[in-house]
Amino acid sequence: MTAGPETHDVVVIGGGPAGLAAALGARRAGAEDVLILERERELGGILRQCVHDGFGLFLYKESISGPEYAERLAEDAWREGVRTRTGAMVLDLTADRLLRVNSADGYRLIRAGAVVLAMGCRERTREMIEIPGTRPAGVLTAGSAQHMVNLQNLRIGHDAVILGSGDIGLIMARRLTFEGMRVRGVFELMPWANGLERNVRQCLRDFDIPLELSSTVVEVRGRDRVSSVVVARVDETFRPIPGTEREVPCDTLLLSVGLIPENELSRRAGIELSPLTGGALVDETLTTSVPGIFSCGNVLHIHDIADGASFEGFAAGRRAAEFLARGAGAAESRRVRIAPGENIRYVLPQAAQAGTEGLELNFRVTVPGRDRWVTVRGAASGALYFRKKFARLVPSEMLKIRIKRAVEEDVEVRCHG
Ligand SMILES: Cc1cc2nc3c(=O)[nH]c(=O)nc-3n(C[C@H](O)[C@H](O)[C@H](O)COP(=O)(O)OP(=O)(O)OC[C@H]3O[C@@H](n4cnc5c(N)ncnc54)[C@H](O)[C@@H]3O)c2cc1C
Repeated sequence: MTAGPETHDVVVIGGGPAGLAAALGARRAGAEDVLILERERELGGILRQCVHDGFGLFLYKESISGPEYAERLAEDAWREGVRTRTGAMVLDLTADRLLRVNSADGYRLIRAGAVVLAMGCRERTREMIEIPGTRPAGVLTAGSAQHMVNLQNLRIGHDAVILGSGDIGLIMARRLTFEGMRVRGVFELMPWANGLERNVRQCLRDFDIPLELSSTVVEVRGRDRVSSVVVARVDETFRPIPGTEREVPCDTLLLSVGLIPENELSRRAGIELSPLTGGALVDETLTTSVPGIFSCGNVLHIHDIADGASFEGFAAGRRAAEFLARGAGAAESRRVRIAPGENIRYVLPQAAQAGTEGLELNFRVTVPGRDRWVTVRGAASGALYFRKKFARLVPSEMLKIRIKRAVEEDVEVRCHG
């Protein structure tokens, strides 16, 4: 007779801030047996390599470094009875919550009462954005460079160019400067910076690092190691403008050109994904299209700051515990859809139970603007559910609004003049 799968009430996949918070959320909401599976040898996710401060302003009301933030969450989790297994890579997940796990002590099957997905994201690479030129050493994603410099204590080069003004690229511009490297400039395709304003100020302007907007790298040069890149201005359709090319000598090119939620396991479980976020479609309880499987943090949508991922994690864990307590097979209720309209890149959640009061919506705008209205209206009736004027809106900042009135019909979120 073969032993059946190991069983747990709630299994959280990923031990970054979202996963740690999800496990705590589940425990605090009454789940007895909560297990985190983390493929790395340590908990903390991306936070472990973010040695600068500025984390925890909302959760802990103070500015701490990434590793300190991870340590606090992990210690809370252990103190409050969360079980953790590191070096445990989840290889497969089914819709009925059976996990196949490869860990130091071998291959295991685990059956979960509820699952919280918290696998984070990965970076877009050179291949994905198809930069022409030679293929020398010295082209790295900003996150890999952060890992090499901060965790492996490696020097990655002398002269760097950074493509993309996402937060990781901005933070690495400052970090490389501290490490004695020269950062020749940050080149951004869009006519605005993609990272937070505070990072543009604190990481570039304070160090006189140039930021060139509406620009891109059109060629990488060098045989064994990068020797230069060619940059060019782009037009409004993002095509390089002939005649604007300029060669910038450097031995390192860092790419900070976008993050992709890690949803391979979600796909295997048959979870429906959003083409707008790259993460699962969820309702107001952070339940995916597969009952009993919840999603939070960067695997759901890319957060600006770790606190955002943690708060979402707490909520997802609490909902997973409620699902367990309620038992599967609870009656399905009527759903309303929440759709992005004019100048809204995405809105989350994408659905909610009809009649939900105090519904919280996260959204990003498509283009920056000043003195813009954000409205939520009934898609068919045109009824106004929410209206607020924002002095300044930028795509790099995720915004949250709360609709007090019960939402009884499909609604659309718009941002307009
Ligand atoms: C490269 C990078 C640098 C960043 N730098 C900053 C910064 O400087 N400042 C800031 O405020 N924010 C920064 N962020 C954003 C912030 O760190 C994130 O918002 C936050 O870490 C997201 O938390 P998470 O738990 O969703 O994901 P993560 O922190 O990425 O954690 C996900 C965890 O899941 C694990 N995992 C994935 N798949 C599996 C699997 N199949 N089995 C088991 N485990 C798995 C991973 O190993 C990882 O530990 C950065 C993000 C990235 C990607």
